[in-house]
Amino acid sequence: MTRIAPGGVIGIFGGGQLGRMTALAAARLGYRCHIYCPEADSPATLVSAAATIGEYDDAAALDAFSASIDVATFEFENVPYEAVARVAAKVPVRPGWEALRISQDRAVEKRFLNGIGLETAPWIEICSAADLRRAPCPGILKTARLGYDGKGQVRLDRGFDAEAVWAAFGTERGVAEALVDFSAEVSAIAARGADGSVAVFDVAQNIHRDGILRRSIAPARVPASIAAEAQAWAARAAEALDLVGLLAIEFFVARNGRLLANEIAPRPHNSGHWTQDACGADQFEQFVRAVAGLPLADPARLSDAEMVNLLGDDALAWPEFLAEPGARLHLYGKRDVRPGRKMGHVNRLSPKAR
Ligand code: AMP
Repeated sequence: MTRIAPGGVIGIFGGGQLGRMTALAAARLGYRCHIYCPEADSPATLVSAAATIGEYDDAAALDAFSASIDVATFEFENVPYEAVARVAAKVPVRPGWEALRISQDRAVEKRFLNGIGLETAPWIEICSAADLRRAPCPGILKTARLGYDGKGQVRLDRGFDAEAVWAAFGTERGVAEALVDFSAEVSAIAARGADGSVAVFDVAQNIHRDGILRRSIAPARVPASIAAEAQAWAARAAEALDLVGLLAIEFFVARNGRLLANEIAPRPHNSGHWTQDACGADQFEQFVRAVAGLPLADPARLSDAEMVNLLGDDALAWPEFLAEPGARLHLYGKRDVRPGRKMGHVNRLSPKAR
């Protein structure tokens, strides 16, 4: 197990807000971060010690990046294999390729989840209009790769025209899954250290609109047994992946009380931002600790919390959030305000009720 002592350099693939908040947590522990991403002036590069602006297939840039860091990690899962392998030949990469490979593809991900015994909504892989005719209905067709925040998704309602939907979908492969009648959506985030230790944050309840997370509430308003089950699955899945870092799992709580996994992410997660102000050590610190090979922190929650995402113009109300007692404002430094773009979030704290 390689331990990177404070003062070392953590390389992060991806320049978004998750990388930014990881870099801020790393800086507090005395690390420097080096961001690798294709876009200049990204939220993460603005707060990091170094940045390489390069494409993921730029061998020379990847080699220079590897030579300047002690360990590499990811703030998003869609880094190509060749880039990961190239860097992994020089420095430890945490989590490893396997966790990325599985979370890059919804069909592979669902097979993995079902394989460890975790139920999902009934689903099938779709490669043609003929496959789509067998899709669960009502259901949702999702791209297998590169879909996020509800993008690349189509509702399949009774009597849908498989040929027309598939022709318009414009992707080679997808999954079709049954529409779940859920009473809640929840997520659990597990950290797994390089020594195999696991620490799981309290379960959050998530409210989405148009496929985008709007609010997370911690603790989730679900029976304690369901929350404990979600936490146990997050730990079990992290172990099954032999993952070092963070693993978030999003679940539907079906009306019959069953937990159905929706998707996993091997990195910090939007539904864990509440930990920044409600826990002694947040998901980003826990991530840095795991990646650097340090002992994990106590994930205990110290207060109740609500996280509200600020999308597009929402962030213009920053003076009101700053003035609000109990509210903590986090902005990502994005200059371009676009509808639906994640610009920041607010954590609202209240005394711990349970
Ligand atoms: P996803 O991109 O798969 O995380 O989906 C985004 C959001 O769309 C989820 O958080 C749910 O609110 C909704 N959604 C996705 N899949 C389903 C499903 N099978 N049944 C009901 N709602 C879904």
